[in-house]
Amino acid sequence: TSSNTIRIEDLDELSKKSYPPCMRRMHETLRAKHHLRHAARLQYTLFLKGAGLSLEDAMKFWRSEFVKVMAVEKFEKEHSYNIRYNYGKEGKRCNYAPYGCNKIMNSQPGPEDASGCPFKHSKPQELRKLILSYGIDSNQGLKDVMEYVNSQQPVLACQKLFVLSHPGKGVEFGLCHPNQYFTESRTIITG
Ligand code: SF4
Repeated sequence: TSSNTIRIEDLDELSKKSYPPCMRRMHETLRAKHHLRHAARLQYTLFLKGAGLSLEDAMKFWRSEFVKVMAVEKFEKEHSYNIRYNYGKEGKRCNYAPYGCNKIMNSQPGPEDASGCPFKHSKPQELRKLILSYGIDSNQGLKDVMEYVNSQQPVLACQKLFVLSHPGKGVEFGLCHPNQYFTESRTIITG
């Protein structure tokens, strides 16, 4: 729930254990390249807000990566406004909602973008790698997930991955939102 908070120092571990693949891919891209393109920044900022990262920590987190590839002044000028904006602190002061699966799946990421839904937008070999990075332990599991992908049912593929990466737990929700994936995972893991 929104009353939960998450901390910057936990993000790497959370991304491995409880992020859905769309968010995990953006997190890992950000860590590797210290940058994300516009659509991915937006999707990931809103997800983190929904997951309970405070505005102050969001600013620190993005700044710490971006300043590895740009001047602090450039970050402050071009990016800090957008982060505050997405937290509803600038412009219309609308508190923007994190994107749901439909919205993410209906976006049209370019070839260089880390945004979008990997089950719909990623190339098969990249997707396999991403799925296997969840440590699922059977070829059958990968096959089951890929069957949903190949029959163009990305949400069911994601839900299947959730089940496989939380062994012993059934899935008692109909997936429609990355923040829901995250919350359900945290509930299972932290009991
Ligand atoms: Fe993210 Fe939803 Fe796609 Fe899963 S199905 S990767 S939660 S957009």
